[in-house]
Amino acid sequence: MFLVVGQPGSEARLVADVLSAHPDLVVAGRGELLVPLAFLLQRVSEPVAARRLAAELIVADKGFADGIGRHLAPDEVAGALVDAPLRLGPLLSALFDAVADAAGVRTAGTMLSVLANPVLNRVGLYEGDVRLLHVVRDARAVVAGAEADVAPIDIARRWDQANRLFGDRRGGDPATYALVRAEDFLSHPERGAAALAPVLGIDPARHDLPHRRLPPVPTLDRATRRLVNQTAREGLFAFGYVPSRHSPRRAAIFGWRKGQAVLERRRNSVAHRRRQAWALQVPPPWAPETDAEAVSPAACNICRWTGPGFTGQQHAESADCPQCGSIARERFHLHGLVPDADVGRFRLLETAPRLHGTYATAMARWCDYTELEPAPVGAPLGHLVGLDGLADASADRIVSAHDLQAVPDPDAVLAQFHRVLSPGGVLLLQLPVLAAKTTALEAAPTAAAGTARWAFGVDVLDRIAAAGFTPELLVTDEFVDLAKGGPDAWRKATSSGELDLEGVLGAAASATLTPVADRATARRRGWIPAVLFLTIRAQRA
Ligand SMILES: [Zn+2]
Repeated sequence: MFLVVGQPGSEARLVADVLSAHPDLVVAGRGELLVPLAFLLQRVSEPVAARRLAAELIVADKGFADGIGRHLAPDEVAGALVDAPLRLGPLLSALFDAVADAAGVRTAGTMLSVLANPVLNRVGLYEGDVRLLHVVRDARAVVAGAEADVAPIDIARRWDQANRLFGDRRGGDPATYALVRAEDFLSHPERGAAALAPVLGIDPARHDLPHRRLPPVPTLDRATRRLVNQTAREGLFAFGYVPSRHSPRRAAIFGWRKGQAVLERRRNSVAHRRRQAWALQVPPPWAPETDAEAVSPAACNICRWTGPGFTGQQHAESADCPQCGSIARERFHLHGLVPDADVGRFRLLETAPRLHGTYATAMARWCDYTELEPAPVGAPLGHLVGLDGLADASADRIVSAHDLQAVPDPDAVLAQFHRVLSPGGVLLLQLPVLAAKTTALEAAPTAAAGTARWAFGVDVLDRIAAAGFTPELLVTDEFVDLAKGGPDAWRKATSSGELDLEGVLGAAASATLTPVADRATARRRGWIPAVLFLTIRAQRA
């Protein structure tokens, strides 16, 4: 299927009307359905109900009779969706494939008048076979033709940002994306349609298409024109409006920009090499900190960067290291990775590390490092399938973060970890521990990879013990004080509000707590607030 996408004022509708006269394609409807469908897919996860409601929504839409309804009867709409995946792009593909079949054309599509809507992204509008015709019209004409109650500068800014962002994000592949300048297309529609043939999969031979004129707009006064030229400068250049295409000035600017890009790349590669150099030099995260680190306000135990502070906020998922990109919980995770004293080089397996590249280079220097790739293989968290292929007792340490809560059967994964670890080996596990007790969450079998299926509680330790491990909680000194401080301390602890503090601290008080960082160290490494930093260290019998 295809989408004719354009902001209000782009005259995407005129383009769609002219295109729909082409014998190989059909444009059905004005795309008003897409946002309601997106909300539906986001809210309803039960597959049978979701497909039924989607079909009802499509048929009940005001534009149905003039759009999709010209080609499909209501029961045919429902039929088209029966096996459709519950993601917006694939769902629309199934629907419009059925429209194309019924109309006897090669392809069918609709329109979309929003270029940036996070809900559409979240439910997968651009997944599957969705081709995009991105329609733009000169910003100065869009401003001149707009309602008088919106400030020209706001229209120009929105035009510039939305169109450039959409072009940058979606325009990578010429097989699925085409830029259509409304002016060019409407003045030479046959030529325009032929140029779109590769994207649409239609006959490139020219067909007679109606000539439609762009609605005339009033002339902009000089001050407004200058304002628009300035505000939308980048976009006007990128889409070939200023300087106009084929002008020598444009060619000159292109040449200059190309030169700048070469220089920029050269500068970046030097800076890049310098940024990566830590991986070839620094001691492992479990080696003692240097004097320079000990007196620095912020110090990374992975790449040994020191500075005035980490970036982002104080949170396990933030406090980013500006050099290696690690976040706070990753630094805490590796802090717990202490090899046995008598072992020279140990074998470390890490499941789905968030950091790759330079980080992996460093890890391979410190130990025999294996990373299970995070690329999903079929099932949710497909990287865990890779565990099956690893030999028994082939790892001395396993580092796993945020895997277990997203799999249907955490015990099966724990059994695999147990099998792959050598006797006496250690599993270092990080999970969001949100309460005292674990609860199962409703997640459809078709839920996207990474969707949480379990809200773990401190009682997950029993589960780990049952899998043949001796578990303890690696925490900071402050955490121990909070947990042992009783209900008073539990109530007064600070967190970011995502967990049941009294539940977690209360339950942790009776677990084996092993403090691994004093307050000063925790502050330097960014392990604040204390309640978010828990690593389960589980030794295999
Ligand atoms: Zn770092």
